[in-house]
Amino acid sequence: MEDDGTPRATVLIIEDNEKNLRLFTDVLEVYGYKTLQAKDGATGLAMAQEHGPDLIVMDIQLPGMTGLEATKRLKADENLRNIPVVAVTASTLKGENQILWEAGCDDYLASPVNLEKLVEKIEHHIFGGRSTA
Ligand code: MN
Repeated sequence: MEDDGTPRATVLIIEDNEKNLRLFTDVLEVYGYKTLQAKDGATGLAMAQEHGPDLIVMDIQLPGMTGLEATKRLKADENLRNIPVVAVTASTLKGENQILWEAGCDDYLASPVNLEKLVEKIEHHIFGGRSTA
């Protein structure tokens, strides 16, 4: 705890878009998080199992297994279901929210992602009521 270099928490980012992956990684590292990266759902699930991250940022539009399917599988696994999942979705259509909740997502952000909001939501889901507003 005395070590300033100690990460505050670990966030797994599952995102196939290189630019977003780098952007999310950079901003979270600035905020003191350790990050892990995966570019598809299957790899993401394996990394979640191996590392037990504190939170997962899940792109919904992934090649192969979608982010929805990956989230459903996470939430069906009793060892992983307590990890909050913040979805990133290109669609902001009204009906989409329901699909996200049904898959077990804990929160979501529309793409292009507002990075301040991303950090805010991550802080909220990992540290709870430590919000400023
Ligand atoms: Mn994508």
